[in-house]
Amino acid sequence: MTQPKTIAVIGAGIVGLSTALWLQKLGVKVTLVDRNEPGLGTSFGNAGLFADYGRLPIASYSQLRKIPGMLLDKRGPLSMQLQYARHLMPYGWHFIKACTTEKYLHGRHALTSLQLTAPAADDALLHETGASKLVQHNGCLALFSTKEGFEAALEGHLHEREEQGVRMQVLSADEVHELEPHLSRFHAGGVIYPDTRFTISPVELSRTYARHFVAQGGKLLQDEVATVSDANGECVVTGTQGTHRFDRTVICAGVAGARLAQQLGVRIPLVSERGYHLVLEAEDWHLTRPVGWLDYAVFMTPMEDGIRIAGMAEFADPDAPQGEKQTEIMRDTAAKMMGKTPAVKSSWVGSRPSTPDSLPIIGRVPGHPNFTLAFGHGHLGLTLAATTGKLVAESIQGKDLDSMLAPFAPARFH
Ligand SMILES: Cc1cc2nc3c(=O)[nH]c(=O)nc-3n(C[C@H](O)[C@H](O)[C@H](O)COP(=O)(O)OP(=O)(O)OC[C@H]3O[C@@H](n4cnc5c(N)ncnc54)[C@H](O)[C@@H]3O)c2cc1C
Repeated sequence: MTQPKTIAVIGAGIVGLSTALWLQKLGVKVTLVDRNEPGLGTSFGNAGLFADYGRLPIASYSQLRKIPGMLLDKRGPLSMQLQYARHLMPYGWHFIKACTTEKYLHGRHALTSLQLTAPAADDALLHETGASKLVQHNGCLALFSTKEGFEAALEGHLHEREEQGVRMQVLSADEVHELEPHLSRFHAGGVIYPDTRFTISPVELSRTYARHFVAQGGKLLQDEVATVSDANGECVVTGTQGTHRFDRTVICAGVAGARLAQQLGVRIPLVSERGYHLVLEAEDWHLTRPVGWLDYAVFMTPMEDGIRIAGMAEFADPDAPQGEKQTEIMRDTAAKMMGKTPAVKSSWVGSRPSTPDSLPIIGRVPGHPNFTLAFGHGHLGLTLAATTGKLVAESIQGKDLDSMLAPFAPARFH
């Protein structure tokens, strides 16, 4: 294919912004299209972790067995909105297919390959954009409620992670207390992942990337994209503001990506797995690193504007109202972790763009090679954004990445 002169990136979340920055380095004219200001989608509200330890797919037989019980637990982190159930059919079917040992190991290998390239890709963007000051390198803690649960994890997923080369150190409850004296004794100990970094402001990270993109000559176009199509090898992007033509287009629209991809003939069983966060009033209460309470699937992160507790997995329409029950559970969980009930400064809900096999969609659209997809990063969008953007740029530049990108192929669910 000839080298493009103009490229559109649809979606200015952390994935689209990272992709636009890498594409810009190719010397191409890049236009970043979003219906909103940069960084206000799901990328606004995450827990802020560059979760280097996240190398295990969610779908596995052991996880599948736990799901009915988790759905029945009204105070647990997993829930489903009944009206959303029909959207979950294709996802559920592919989730079950992804549970075989063979598929699980394949997914584990694929996620590890992305994770190994992630830190260098992040370092490059953080350094070039001047965003390094928004990132702290202090590790993160992952804690367990009971000794039995902790021991089972040590033999199970923690052992798997160690085998994958993730550095960790096992800590007793007392050792955790020495590191984070303000935490209550809700746990039986856990591990510290010393290589995990975190941002103190996900939205400021996006804004810093956007400012750098514009300073380097990039164009931000505020428009809601309604249709994408291919006209004799040219990408036609039509929004409410008009029709725009580009040599190439990369779709990074998060949970909305599947609808646009479908217009190009690719069906992706992407779902909205909503997560919540609360920013807590905690003037005299301090943390120095993110702390995860794994039994409740939450992370508490010290951010610029306060302590943020983030988590939950609610399969629901992205536009459905925020659930009061979820907000209450998060607040109760925060109270147990802090040893006191905090006042809530603000709360938020957003949709993780989740695929059944926990692998993002990265690659060209079959039959429309001038369109590339880059979305579906589920729980790891912040962690894998920079490396995704780099891979997209290299593939558009003509580098042969066929074997590296095969596990993430858009048509793998057909
Ligand atoms: C509670 C919670 C905690 C999390 N914690 C972490 C964490 O600690 N670490 C981690 O790595 N990940 C985490 N994640 C996941 C991470 O936040 C997401 O994977 C990531 O933000 C997805 O980024 P994105 O750019 O693909 O999507 P988004 O940020 O949603 O960006 C997509 C953009 O596309 C735009 N768009 C959509 N449709 C259109 C259209 N038709 N026209 C124009 N624009 C459009 C939207 O406006 C939006 O700005 C968490 C998620 C949640 C919910």
